[in-house]
Amino acid sequence: MNIYADNAATTEMSEAAINAMTDGMRNWYGNPSSLYTIGQKAKEKLEEARAEIAGIIHAQPREIIFTSGGSEADNQAILTAALNGKKKGKTHIISSAFEHHAVLHTLKKLEKDGFTVTLLPVHESGLVRPDELEAALREDTCLVTIMTANNEIGTIQPIAEIGAICRARHVVFHTDAVQAVGHLPIDVEAQQIDMLSASAHKFHGPKGVGFLYARKGIVLQNLIEGGAQERGKRAGTENLPGILGMTAALKEAVGAMEQHNTHMKKIRDYLIRGLSEIPHSALNGDAERRLSGNVNFSFEGIEGESLLILLDQKGISASSGSACTSGALDPSHVLLAIGRVHDVAHGSLRLSIGEDITVQEADHIIEATKEVVAYLRSFSPVWRDLTEGKKEFILK
Ligand SMILES: *Cc1c(COP(=O)(O)O)cnc(C)c1O
Repeated sequence: MNIYADNAATTEMSEAAINAMTDGMRNWYGNPSSLYTIGQKAKEKLEEARAEIAGIIHAQPREIIFTSGGSEADNQAILTAALNGKKKGKTHIISSAFEHHAVLHTLKKLEKDGFTVTLLPVHESGLVRPDELEAALREDTCLVTIMTANNEIGTIQPIAEIGAICRARHVVFHTDAVQAVGHLPIDVEAQQIDMLSASAHKFHGPKGVGFLYARKGIVLQNLIEGGAQERGKRAGTENLPGILGMTAALKEAVGAMEQHNTHMKKIRDYLIRGLSEIPHSALNGDAERRLSGNVNFSFEGIEGESLLILLDQKGISASSGSACTSGALDPSHVLLAIGRVHDVAHGSLRLSIGEDITVQEADHIIEATKEVVAYLRSFSPVWRDLTEGKKEFILK
């Protein structure tokens, strides 16, 4: 049994996205900036895609800029608000402790350039409190950037409330909605969002393409200088096949969103119940206000990396609570932000299930995880200390 349960890392491309992309590669190879018919046909396709995407999030087509993905959109949004703010003497930025590194590392860079950053706590629930945001706002705040849904623990922030607070105080509000677009309803008007980042490969589209929504009136700062593509705000010949693939994937995801969420929620909660039977374990993040595909558990006395390798041998692709991207085993900043101590954060498992997961697959995941956790504990020195009373259990 092969089960792909790492959809928060990336997703398999949908047939519709592959077809739209190959259609783009075969038939719409013209350069949208060229004046002859083949170029203008490509331009037409590009603008159709832009209008389609704008409609889905309740934006205007001219408010959508195509990018190379979520990281680029996050960088452009944050640098835009920062530089525009600085011109008015505003150099304070508010974000949260558990943002994606595309946000946190951009903020770090800005701190070196003289900006002040306040990271709001996300508490044990993995949720920002609107009253704490309100209290953190200052006269010189130029940006609030809070993600819509967290990529590790799946918690969903009160975006409309945050949007309303920012709008009332005339502060630009950006949200990294990479985990939310295609999975949750987004309405930039109703939620009062000024800028939003999205990435195609998180909703069954191709990798290396995404978009930035920037409300009319926000003067975007360029990351890439060159030609006049994307209204002069993002140079480079447009990745039309990727954009067409993204648009097809998004259309499909949004069309089936309710049905997918109903099904995934059922399986998610089934997995949570099953994994809760493992002693000295805990669910990470709020049980209700989380993405319907996200299950994140900590198991005391084990190493997440070993858990992943053994689960892989049982056909399960999942992710852990350590950032192994750097080659180092730093515990996840997200799990630390919700108050997990290092040892506990290390023994964590993220399952991000797909829309077509079955109950049988969920049963296999539960059984395999129970087996592997028990096996790893059987020779874990930490577990021995815990069971012999030399150390206190943290997870009851
Ligand atoms: C995946 C992800 C990103 C980065 O998107 P890319 O398209 O891979 O650059 C940013 N933010 C969040 C929350 C993500 O999950």
